[in-house]
Amino acid sequence: MPISSPPIPPARSATSRRRVLIVDDNTELGDTLRAVVASGIPGIAIETAESGAAALVKAKKGFDVAIVDVKLPDVSGIDLITPLRAVSPFSEVLLLTGFASVDAAIGALRSGAFAFVLKSFRPEELISIVEQALTKVELKHERDELERRYRDLVEVTDVLVVALSGADEVALMNRKAASLAGTTSDQALGRSIFDSWIPAEDHAALRAALATTRAQGRTTEAETGFVEARGTRIGAPAGEGAPGDAGAAQPSPRARRIRWHLSPSRESGDLVYGIGIDVTERRALEKRAADAEALSAMGELAMNLAHEIRNPLNAAVLQLHLLTRNLDRIEADELTRGALKDRTRIVGDEIGRLNRLLTEFLELARPRGIAREPVHLPRLADEVLDLEEESAKGRGVTIVRELPEDGCVAIGDREKLKQVTINLVVNALEAMKQGGTLTVRVRPDHERVLMTVEDTGPGIASELIPNVFDPFFTTKEAGTGLGLSIVRKIVDQHGGDVEIESERGRGAKVLVSIPIGR
Ligand code: ADP
Repeated sequence: MPISSPPIPPARSATSRRRVLIVDDNTELGDTLRAVVASGIPGIAIETAESGAAALVKAKKGFDVAIVDVKLPDVSGIDLITPLRAVSPFSEVLLLTGFASVDAAIGALRSGAFAFVLKSFRPEELISIVEQALTKVELKHERDELERRYRDLVEVTDVLVVALSGADEVALMNRKAASLAGTTSDQALGRSIFDSWIPAEDHAALRAALATTRAQGRTTEAETGFVEARGTRIGAPAGEGAPGDAGAAQPSPRARRIRWHLSPSRESGDLVYGIGIDVTERRALEKRAADAEALSAMGELAMNLAHEIRNPLNAAVLQLHLLTRNLDRIEADELTRGALKDRTRIVGDEIGRLNRLLTEFLELARPRGIAREPVHLPRLADEVLDLEEESAKGRGVTIVRELPEDGCVAIGDREKLKQVTINLVVNALEAMKQGGTLTVRVRPDHERVLMTVEDTGPGIASELIPNVFDPFFTTKEAGTGLGLSIVRKIVDQHGGDVEIESERGRGAKVLVSIPIGR
């Protein structure tokens, strides 16, 4: 559908009347001037004043052009120019004088007068000059209005707007860019974009693009990271944040991905304007699509293989069971028997791990639809925490439940959402080897239900956060690396979102939001 832009209203409404202020102590001349201007410029509003002081009072009501006699009883017309224009900044002043001298004319123009008119003027001459002055005032209003609209546009737009000096220092940064950079538009001024916000690995690409823009005077494109101060959120395929103090308030800044269109400035030499589109989410989606494709390519073959492995594995479990029982019956000293038992236990543990891997892999790879039923998430979380209570106690972990009774019913698959909760709670417990606090919260959040699972464990190093949802990514000795992949798959199936906020040494917080789905 073509998008038509709304009509732009004129800078000043067509009905706003143009106003002239005549300042002359000679009332007769004042009246003549009024009559001439009124006859030549229909519809014009005219005020008159007989002294400088009176003129300044009248000026406060607003005027566009003042016709001022150079000789006034209280002040020189020349000295009145500045205070008059201070009252109405876009106005113009015509000086009226009885004698013509080059010096007087130069003096008048130097002091900012629009023109210098002799009292022996012809009416059409005066009208023409007043019209020219009015046109100039009108143009100044229009330019101001356009500039204001342009500034508003730059400020409210959802794209990043940055201007860089020849030394790559920020000469302008709009609100959107500043908020991603964790600063304000004012504080960004004069700072080097490279030192503060561009990750080191992207310096070369951006420098090359800027050099081409300046040397060839044409628009170029570049994609770079851009450090944001707040985020430790997942979803960014980008690398880590650059060194720099953008995130001083909050450590471990992370980079967004920005696609820059760099254009040279027409007016000033090396200035380059950068319009940036935040492509972080797009890149993350592309990565997820690629992951999904890789999974489905592995898909059927791997699923069949997994099923095939199950049978011999089950047979092995059975044989191991018999072997363990027979161990008690063989003749051997306790030491030998103990060592043999240890070995069988290790084999048993490994088979258990393989089994878990298979189960989780099949869960992830199986293309199964989800049920759509009302699920009371606080109750579900309560149940899972009851299940894990013993395990938590054994680890010295205190469980905090913030689970309201009302308003947190999502539409989805109960069993799958339970799986999500279990995976997150188990991860949190496994992280807290030295004890700690596990807090599970559920609360309504607009059209969604938000569940957060927070621990006080060691947290996740920021460079690992982009990987934790990858299948088979694990830092645990006996981990499968599939827990969070399953979480993400289920949450995706529900049309929800999952994010991790974490810093090394400060625990981890996983946020899952599921649509209420009316
Ligand atoms: P697994 O638990 O089998 O390793 P997951 O996909 O559930 O697989 O988790 C992947 C990795 O993410 C973990 O190995 C761990 O490094 C990290 N991780 C997940 N949850 C937490 C947490 N609460 N605290 C610290 N690290 C975590």
